[in-house]
Amino acid sequence: MSELFKKSFLEIRKDLDEGALTSESLSESLLGRAQDENKKNNALISFCEDSLMKEAQLADERLKSGERSALLGVPIVLKDIISCKGHRLTAASKMLENFVAPYDATVTTKLKQAGVPILAKANCDEFAMGSSNENSFFGAVKNPWDLERVPGGSSGGSAAAVASGMSPISLGTDTGGSIRQPAALTGITGLKPTYGRVSRYGVVAFASSLDQVGPMCSDAFSSAAVLECISGHDLHDATSSQAKVPSFLRSTIAWSERKDLKGLRIGLPKQFFVEGLDPVVAQEINKVADFYKSEGAEIVDIELPHVKHSMATYYIICSSEASSNLARYDGVHYGHRSERKTSNLDELYSRNRAEGFGDEVTLRILLGTFSLSSGYYDAYYHKASQVRELMRQDYKNAFSKVDCILGPTSPSTAFKLGEKGKDPVQMYLSDIYTLATNLAGIPAISFNSDSDSKLPIGVHLQGSWWGEEKLLGLAAYYQKRHPNSLRKADS
Ligand code: GLN
Repeated sequence: MSELFKKSFLEIRKDLDEGALTSESLSESLLGRAQDENKKNNALISFCEDSLMKEAQLADERLKSGERSALLGVPIVLKDIISCKGHRLTAASKMLENFVAPYDATVTTKLKQAGVPILAKANCDEFAMGSSNENSFFGAVKNPWDLERVPGGSSGGSAAAVASGMSPISLGTDTGGSIRQPAALTGITGLKPTYGRVSRYGVVAFASSLDQVGPMCSDAFSSAAVLECISGHDLHDATSSQAKVPSFLRSTIAWSERKDLKGLRIGLPKQFFVEGLDPVVAQEINKVADFYKSEGAEIVDIELPHVKHSMATYYIICSSEASSNLARYDGVHYGHRSERKTSNLDELYSRNRAEGFGDEVTLRILLGTFSLSSGYYDAYYHKASQVRELMRQDYKNAFSKVDCILGPTSPSTAFKLGEKGKDPVQMYLSDIYTLATNLAGIPAISFNSDSDSKLPIGVHLQGSWWGEEKLLGLAAYYQKRHPNSLRKADS
């Protein structure tokens, strides 16, 4: 890797502010690197070359005129379910293969206003459904740490883009773990914000009561800067909150400079350390707990009794909402249109959808349609919503005793491509530690541990509603004292 790709976010920031680097030269080198690396890892679906250079020049003008802000001039990669006007928006599906976004998502608008050039659109699982990024119409993404392994999913392209030095910052989305699990498997920092912190306007909907956009970045500082930029109330999204957006970057820097962690209580749920968890991962998480303890935090045993139902609950809720959200793709309003002759409208819809959607998406639509059908609604969707409420109560109780909850992000390190493809339950278990976060609507972060393992191991911290500052702070505190946890994949 040449020096530029080894630089931390704050070093790049300093170079831009001091004029040692221009946004144009940075964007050009990152684009070159992205085009080369993409041949190996398939992290990106499309590049935004033309607009990238124009946006970079504008950022340089703003820098020259003396403007200073956290992200000004730093290029970003967006998961290809986030709209960027004039560029393709595929959701990694044949259904939307040639669809061009007619407007910007609110998060894209906010990034553009902050002077962030958009570099490329990242590969992902089709309609964000998956845990390995093998469900993409554009082919699987490969993990930059080992190209025979998956990068996790569904935001595997955004993760691989950061891990392979294409860009220091990217955006992903998280419905049940799709920011944090790929962040864990590729050794980067990923944060799923509190539900409502970030607007979902202009983001292809999967399960609307669970989806959140969030940062996937090289460290906690860049994650904080990106979160600060994209957060806030949006008139276009009634579920976005009016809560004031804190100065995330400033507070994260302050946390990293704390002398110790006295007064902080970290919960460790026993039920996370059970069969199915790779002993190497378990050992690493215990080491992280010991580190926080040695810095003055208190480690507290806690119980989350209903979290064991998260997989059943999540798959009923997400499939039900997906079946409703994806009804709009009929090939008439928009989406793939079959070239075969059909004799009536029903047949046309069926062909368009059968040809346009991949297997996993079809499976979820079938499951969801069944769970919502009259006669089954009470037994499935309604029941799942009740269990979801019990989980929310579990977290409420836990956060009356502790500041945050520590555990593994994923039960294992990155698995081999094709290893779990035939068994959906095995695949679904990859998210066993992340699903409940979305069901409860709380924020959580994953960051790389400082392990001797050849593959990255993700540390998962869940926080109380609107408690992102603590999560970013604790990640930054760890990273500052374990610089090796920030090492990059060198494929
Ligand atoms: N892997 C989970 C699923 O397939 C989560 C996906 C996500 O968070 N977008 O649904």
